[in-house]
Amino acid sequence: MKKTQIIRYIIQLISFILLPGLFILTWNSIKVLFIALINNTFTLDTMLIPILTLVAVIPITMLWGRFFCGYLCAFGSMQELLNYIAKKLKIKQININYKLDKLLKYIKYIIIVLLIILWILNITLDTINPWNIFGIYSSYKAWLDLSAFISIGGFILLLIIISSLFIERVFCRYFCPLGGVFTIISKLRLFNIKKDLNKCVNCNICSKKCPMNIDVNKETSEYNKVKSSECIDCFKCINTCPVNALYTKPKEAITGSVSALAIAGLYYGGTLLANNIPSDNPSTPIIITGKYKDGTYYGTGTGYRGEIKVKVIVEKGGITSITIESYKDDEQFFNKAKSTIINNIISTQSTDVATVSGATYSSKGIISAVINALDLTDNIESDNTEEEQPSTNNTFTNLEDGTYEGIGTGRNGDIVVSVVVKDKKVTSITIESSKEDTKYMNRAKDTIINSIIANQSIDIDTVSGATMSSNGIIDAVANALNIPFANPNDALNNKGQHHNRPNK
Ligand code: SF4
Ligand code: SF4
Ligand code: SF4
Repeated sequence: MKKTQIIRYIIQLISFILLPGLFILTWNSIKVLFIALINNTFTLDTMLIPILTLVAVIPITMLWGRFFCGYLCAFGSMQELLNYIAKKLKIKQININYKLDKLLKYIKYIIIVLLIILWILNITLDTINPWNIFGIYSSYKAWLDLSAFISIGGFILLLIIISSLFIERVFCRYFCPLGGVFTIISKLRLFNIKKDLNKCVNCNICSKKCPMNIDVNKETSEYNKVKSSECIDCFKCINTCPVNALYTKPKEAITGSVSALAIAGLYYGGTLLANNIPSDNPSTPIIITGKYKDGTYYGTGTGYRGEIKVKVIVEKGGITSITIESYKDDEQFFNKAKSTIINNIISTQSTDVATVSGATYSSKGIISAVINALDLTDNIESDNTEEEQPSTNNTFTNLEDGTYEGIGTGRNGDIVVSVVVKDKKVTSITIESSKEDTKYMNRAKDTIINSIIANQSIDIDTVSGATMSSNGIIDAVANALNIPFANPNDALNNKGQHHNRPNK
């Protein structure tokens, strides 16, 4: 293996580990800038991070070509790796002739136009975006829960993964909108791969090895350079030429590493700069006295790449401070969401706030962490405390043997249980279905079920950090056994914070 390829693989690996979301970030930067410009909401303060991200990538692509794609993009690297494995496993490759290839390459421009129309119409496609699903699973912990694959985006990602086994860089060649943008801007590039025509023996190996299906031999023979702006500067053509007829100036190993490191350096420099520029936020909090119990609360939510922990301080009944204790999301996504979401929650005293465009997962993660911190129903001051407390006389008596089904209201909706009564005692409770987040349900389930069975009563303590799921299970058991139970979740629903109680 040639030195250039070893360097490239090392840079790809480092980027995959450290910057797996860089391609999404770059695309989202284009998106938010475009939306801000058409909506006339552009301000340097809010657009600084997208601008700095594009400054890190676009000028180098313009001058030197698509090093971003060849060296830094994790999604491109994933496709390359999959195809490498497929070839090693001798999986037959699909060769697409140059004519058809040329036509198919226009698909990405159609996708760009469609996406721009959707942006103008303010329609988001986060759930069908395979990049987002890829971003989630670039965190190894995310593989413990494969549910994100059960979505349109997950299905498209699986299609891309499977197609990559048969066609090298299939998504990059034909479908990637960011690749389309790079193809357009790299038309101007100064850096080119050239050929010593006297050395070339027309073996065509360079064309066959090109992952972007460029007819390198033909182009270099006709123009004495690789003219196609589809070129991702991987230099496989140079490295596989048996007579060293292809070359770059300066040498490809130097150009490749310097360009990739320049993009990464500018990206990190931009992040540092953006973080050190003081923001106008936070705005003055509006405190609604009496809504929450005073105290300091901790909660967790799931962001783009893992757990987000927050500390929420409630004073005089209002949320006065939300501090991020830890997070795993990419810094630029997270910073984009952080101040806006925290400010909005504090100023509205509600977690019912809009997510930040281009940082949806981080936004949702922060919001759910605050909900988790404040969600303990015993933290919400109730106007109706008496009604919301579970009955204290809920020990099972006079039960008849049989199996009963009941429905309760949890955090996200119905929880259905089946309850087995044997010898006039509850002997088993099974959760038949639930819309709760697995995390909360798992936290509540066993403890609540065991407590009900051990105490033969629904008058039991809820599980801290999973109060609403706990109450939902208790509610469902009470419903199954026809025991009155005032579910505190219903009071929250009435405040518009949760789903309505279903009819039983
Ligand atoms: S074409 Fe798109 S997916 Fe492929 S490497 Fe470039 S940015 Fe990444
Ligand atoms: S022309 Fe050469 S450098 Fe460009 S993508 Fe093809 S193999 Fe890579
Ligand atoms: S691999 Fe080298 S010798 Fe073969 S066609 Fe390409 S430039 Fe010519």
